[in-house]
Amino acid sequence: MEDELIKQIWGDVLAILKESVLATTFETWIVPLVPHSFEDNCFCALTGQNLAVQILQKNQKDISKALSKVCGKDVYFKVIYDEDLHKQLEKEKQKAKKEEEKEFIQNLEKRISSSKYDGLKQMQSACNLNLKYKFDNFVVGSSNKFAYAVAVAVAKDPGKQYNPLFIYGNSGLGKTHLLQAIGHDILFHKPKLKVKYVKAEEFINDLVSSLAKGMDKTGDKNKKMNEFRNKYRNVDVLLVDDIQLIEGKSRTEEEMFNTFESLHNSGRQIVFTSDRSPDKFENTPERLKTRFQMGLLADIQVPDLETRMAILTKLANDNNVKIPPNVIEFLASVFNKNVRELEGAFNTISAYTSINEIPVTLDIVKKIIKYNDKKKTVTVDGIIDITAGFYNVSADDIKSSNRAAKTAYARQIAIYLAKEFTNESFPFIGDCFNRKHTTIMYSHQKVKKDIEHDMHLARDIQELTDKINS
Ligand code: ADP
Ligand code: MG
Repeated sequence: MEDELIKQIWGDVLAILKESVLATTFETWIVPLVPHSFEDNCFCALTGQNLAVQILQKNQKDISKALSKVCGKDVYFKVIYDEDLHKQLEKEKQKAKKEEEKEFIQNLEKRISSSKYDGLKQMQSACNLNLKYKFDNFVVGSSNKFAYAVAVAVAKDPGKQYNPLFIYGNSGLGKTHLLQAIGHDILFHKPKLKVKYVKAEEFINDLVSSLAKGMDKTGDKNKKMNEFRNKYRNVDVLLVDDIQLIEGKSRTEEEMFNTFESLHNSGRQIVFTSDRSPDKFENTPERLKTRFQMGLLADIQVPDLETRMAILTKLANDNNVKIPPNVIEFLASVFNKNVRELEGAFNTISAYTSINEIPVTLDIVKKIIKYNDKKKTVTVDGIIDITAGFYNVSADDIKSSNRAAKTAYARQIAIYLAKEFTNESFPFIGDCFNRKHTTIMYSHQKVKKDIEHDMHLARDIQELTDKINS
């Protein structure tokens, strides 16, 4: 069939898939496909991404269905990995990266020459931004789609809508990355605006030292504090990272409140990140809490498996490291709570394999990350059984309200081991033991302390540990 016709069919198919397939899958794996041939009811597309063949297996039916609809007959879809296409994509990527960096630097230089800054370095450190964190190397999935979209909107039009933007979520999920990406994007597209990125911790330290120095002076007593205030209020965009750190520090909270009022009242943009939502700031004055909440709250959740795989694939591509699909899937399923840890594992693996000049394989990766297949099967119930057997009590009694001294002792130790050997939370372990999570926390803490001075207990724990690991 003619190339033109094949392209046209594929264009129609893309329009259907865009609506029916997950956005991450569509953008990452389907859009880059190159339609190749259409013979004997088999439509074939090429990919330059090794992993696409495996990933798209899940979407095989959807794609075939869309093709059949467009062609009005049953069509089978096939995707083939093409090494030449891979090389071509790599080249294009490198070129685009270089061009973008060039443009970025040019833009910065323009700003430098038109402002009081006299050097690129000074400029970068004045903003405190890390060039690594930009929108285009942030992988978007359902867990962070909303936060990403509003961050982009804020960068486009700072101070206009969503002010303040408050991004929250657990550690290692990309809050700092998004916050700095806002800064970069604004510096890049609106070089006249003054952007300041500050970690809450620096804000606190800066305030403390300004207060201390201010009092030393014999002359102008408030000089340092005025300098401090100017620094944070004389900007168009203030990006504050990890705002939860100021909780309960009343002097800092007051200063943050005043900074906020001053910026917000003159239509300047503020963005906060935090490891928890404003309503979980228990020791913060209501008036500051309501300021946090008056714009837009956006949370970031743990990315799903597909997004974690996409993040790893991107890392591998950007760093020119070859990682086979089974290893990508393995790592993405092991490091399933924290992108920072996933990235850390990737860095260790790529350093180790490149120093030793060996390929990345599943066996080697398991060795590097000290992965123990057995560890995966350690469950709270398994630990209860082992501990019950060791102390000669019944597992059911451990889970019941039985208060016999021997049972209670075994229970405490089982609780301690459950927390140490599984990744489960206190409430989850509480459910396994039919107890409140506070009881679990107390028992865990108590055994942990007792081990330090009770040799007998320490020996029991060692023996139990060996049994759990065997
Ligand atoms: P947080 O501030 O939430 O603790 P970070 O922004 O420091 O997390 O993210 C930890 C690491 O994970 C960073 O190196 C960041 O670039 C990376 N990361 C997190 N989420 C993503 C994502 N969606 N795409 C690409 N990299 C990500
Ligand atoms: Mg952070």
